Amino acid sequence: MPCLFCAIARKEIPAEVIYEDTRAVAFLDIHPRALGHTLVIPRTHAATLTELSEDETAPLFEAVRRVTEKISRALRPDGFTIGVNHGSVSGQEVDHLHVHILPRFAGDGGGSVQTLVNKPSKQPIAEVAKTIRIHT
Ligand code: 5GP
Ligand code: ZN
Repeated sequence: MPCLFCAIARKEIPAEVIYEDTRAVAFLDIHPRALGHTLVIPRTHAATLTELSEDETAPLFEAVRRVTEKISRALRPDGFTIGVNHGSVSGQEVDHLHVHILPRFAGDGGGSVQTLVNKPSKQPIAEVAKTIRIHT
């Protein structure tokens, strides 16, 4: 199936692009949850961060930094929430990696990233860390 965000990156589908470079494109979310709600995508198709090649990750994050600065200057929000819905269980609907930049304004009623889920395991964190460390 053709990828919607690849089509946006190639300008085959219109979008309100606010920044682009050779590796990344940033455009306004069609259903903004805040003033200036933006999506930053790599030009290369990858569904998730772990599928993105190593040399693509730094340029993507640098684009996120630049766009955040640009929005900050233009719209003067009080802060940002920056995040990725990574996999369908987390709410990812478009299978082309995209970083949400959500400008935050005092009194906007939104929560922090930690409020998205609250289901910790009973395993002590030292054990969890050990399990993770032994994997590459
Ligand atoms: P996800 O849940 O996959 O992290 O978020 C996908 C986001 O893409 C949603 O916030 C949705 O509003 C946005 N979106 C979906 N289709 C389009 C589109 O055609 N154009 C733009 N600009 N945004 C889109
Ligand atoms: Zn794609």
